[in-house]
Amino acid sequence: MNRADSYCGAHDGPRWLRGGGRPILMYHKFGQPRPRSRLRALYVTPTLLRDQLRGLLRAGLRASSPAELREHEAAFSVTIDDACESALLRALPVLLELQVQATLYVVAGRLGGTNDWEVAVGEPRERLMDEAQVRAWLASGQRIGSHTLTHPRLTALDDAAVREELQASRLALEDRFQQPVTELCYPFGAHDERIRHLTREAGYTSAVTVEPGTVQATSDPLRLPRLLARHRWPGPAALFSRLVQLFSRRP
Ligand SMILES: [Zn+2]
Repeated sequence: MNRADSYCGAHDGPRWLRGGGRPILMYHKFGQPRPRSRLRALYVTPTLLRDQLRGLLRAGLRASSPAELREHEAAFSVTIDDACESALLRALPVLLELQVQATLYVVAGRLGGTNDWEVAVGEPRERLMDEAQVRAWLASGQRIGSHTLTHPRLTALDDAAVREELQASRLALEDRFQQPVTELCYPFGAHDERIRHLTREAGYTSAVTVEPGTVQATSDPLRLPRLLARHRWPGPAALFSRLVQLFSRRP
């Protein structure tokens, strides 16, 4: 059995992989966990990112956008929430080295700002990418999607406010970066039938959640599950057999 077989083979692979499930990996911040952070699982070092992506590539999977994932066999997606500066400084070199395209979900009203929504609950302040940095991200061949205007819990807002968060963020990003923006990430993973309806109405064709799971051909494109890429990761040989356990719990 070669290395790829040991990832994908019927004996070693988890059920979701054998059943055609395609993972969307969810990343946030890159580097060592900050000492005061209670959300340490949201930090991944560049070395670990490289190991995780190499494991998937060596297993014969290829990187695809979340929107296209339903149509591809043996594919995975890389998504990065919030557009922290560390995504540009620490993750992008790895993505370029491995020729993997990722989707960066940008909080359109917070370019060059900070992660206020996490600071409010006691997390360390992180710098978010500014306009020039997002341009550099795009110029290197990576994708962006919307993470709304201000990162609110959409389910707590009335329809008018949700429309503003969804539509104004998409238009602002399209206007500023001169390209279509059709991918959305729900802040805090908060969505329901009303929010998905408004998401479709706002012109998005894919939206990711934090519900653990993998994408199937039949998945709702506006309710795509993801797997949290944690800062701890098993050795490559145990990659897939540990994925489900590792990813099935939120921090
Ligand atoms: Zn977020």
